[in-house]
Amino acid sequence: MKRKILLIYTGGTIGMIKEYGSETLKPFNFNALIKHIPEIKLIDAEIDIHVFENPIDSSDIDISNWIFLGNILENSYNNYDGFVILHGTDTMSYTASMMSFMLQGLQKPVIFTGSQLPIGELRTDAKENLITSIYYAALYEKNSPIIKEVCIYFEYKLYRANRTTKFSAEHFDAFISPNYHILGESGVNLNVFKEYLLTLNSKKFIVDKNINNKIDIYTFFPGKNSKLLNKIIFDSDVEGIILRTYGSGNIPSDKETLYTISKAREIGKEIVVITQCIRGCVNFGKYYNSLIFKELGVISGYDITIEAATTKLMWLLGKDIRDKRLKNHFENSYSGEITNKK
Ligand code: ASP
Repeated sequence: MKRKILLIYTGGTIGMIKEYGSETLKPFNFNALIKHIPEIKLIDAEIDIHVFENPIDSSDIDISNWIFLGNILENSYNNYDGFVILHGTDTMSYTASMMSFMLQGLQKPVIFTGSQLPIGELRTDAKENLITSIYYAALYEKNSPIIKEVCIYFEYKLYRANRTTKFSAEHFDAFISPNYHILGESGVNLNVFKEYLLTLNSKKFIVDKNINNKIDIYTFFPGKNSKLLNKIIFDSDVEGIILRTYGSGNIPSDKETLYTISKAREIGKEIVVITQCIRGCVNFGKYYNSLIFKELGVISGYDITIEAATTKLMWLLGKDIRDKRLKNHFENSYSGEITNKK
């Protein structure tokens, strides 16, 4: 049976060309570029294409684009067996993570992909990424989809989207999944590692589009002026702050920093602690320099990526979840984004 796939083009290098006389890449009409992949017609699937009216470089992605994408998926969910979303690599992990939270009760494959070289270039990686993504989106077994979650497919690997981070601006394998096994690998065969896939949840499919972007990220580094943390907490309307701490959740133990963090909790500012390390996990109280977080009951991001942490915080705040409930919701997995080691 032919599967119906919706291909959504949002922008990104995959559909860009160099303007005449310039070396700068800009988004271009994707319908014209699709001519470069005649192979697409040979795929045993029915493919419809939805092109963003104004394709963008993914550095321009904002909340309105996420809501727009959510609306497309909401309106077309029942009419298609799988979805492939073409997106710039720069912020793909953010958008794909946000979709993994917005699309609650998802029971069909949603595969993000893009490329490091435009589709029209001779050495492009776009063709393989696009064609294999369509295959993964059309992968069914006994009339039921094998993949029921949001993924990124890139350079022969299938990842859980909310576990990825853009790792290379140079290599074709642009993404890594530092704290979770890959979900599949394409070689001669299209492999899926079923033991790592999300298992079906019984919730009804809904697209939950409430997002609150009153958040910020604060990165510690040796020598940083500790007054800056004070400023971001007291002189702004941010409701949630993600602290990018050292190692397993450590921060400087000077009076000003510790006072600011205690005061922030007192006045209801939400704090999420993640680590600057690519791999591994936050562990409050392992060192004296993270004990304050344990004492104050601050939210631990465990092994979450910065992309999943920011989108999850925006999404949970958008649902007006606060304090202890927020801690509980953040520290437990919605769509496989976090390993709570407790
Ligand atoms: N700047 C591009 C984008 O993210 C990079 C890419 O697609 O690889 O839209």
